[in-house]
Amino acid sequence: MRRILELQPNLHVLEVIRPEFTVRSVAVLGERHAVLWDTLTGAADMAAFQPVIGAKPFHVVYSHADWDHIWGTNGFSRPPLDIIAHRACLRRFDQDVAGTLREMQLAEPGEWDDIELIPPNLVFSSCMSLDLGGITLELHHLPGHSADCIVGWIPQWGVLLGGDAIETPVPVVNDPALLADWLGSLESWANNSDVKRAISAHGSIEGRESLDSTVDYLRRLIAGDDIEFESELDDFYRGAHQKNLELARSRDQGHD
Ligand SMILES: [Zn+2]
Repeated sequence: MRRILELQPNLHVLEVIRPEFTVRSVAVLGERHAVLWDTLTGAADMAAFQPVIGAKPFHVVYSHADWDHIWGTNGFSRPPLDIIAHRACLRRFDQDVAGTLREMQLAEPGEWDDIELIPPNLVFSSCMSLDLGGITLELHHLPGHSADCIVGWIPQWGVLLGGDAIETPVPVVNDPALLADWLGSLESWANNSDVKRAISAHGSIEGRESLDSTVDYLRRLIAGDDIEFESELDDFYRGAHQKNLELARSRDQGHD
């Protein structure tokens, strides 16, 4: 199932609701150009979302190279201006991206046959800025969930696009070596009172909840404090939380 929401004028999200999880893409419309932030799970997702940008020339941005953020790029009826990502995201197209597709094709035959893997063609290392006409989208490297993660910042609106760098109820840790930097970078954003809204790819889009909640979770995880949740976790997040605890403990052991 898919649904499109207008969060404010010129800011739309597409939610793809699958049995196992929900993931969202964001469309940001400037006066001259638009951005589509993540292309999600297949061509049909972007075919459904592209009409919100009308005839505007558009950039595609990948928040990182996990499959549910990059598989819809062949769904556009006209080509984007460019496909922008962190340099490490491009590297992953030579590392794990094709392998993940093969694994999922084996696991679910017929389900993923028309996926076309389209790598970024414009990469950056630390940050870059896109002038969309009237508004700016700044892209900042924020390694944590994965080494290639970025966040997007729209200063005129106070909106932070978080990708998987922010997630409720449980952010997903893959590499414990990145935990401290991940928390440090997110704390800087959380301390910035200009941030009014944080949009995670999975999880909350209410105000800044996903940002503040992720900071709180990572702080407690790193400190070894108890983590409590407002409501009971579903199977996916219970598993993710368990794995996070194990990874955080392995990090502590590594330090002794
Ligand atoms: Zn994801």
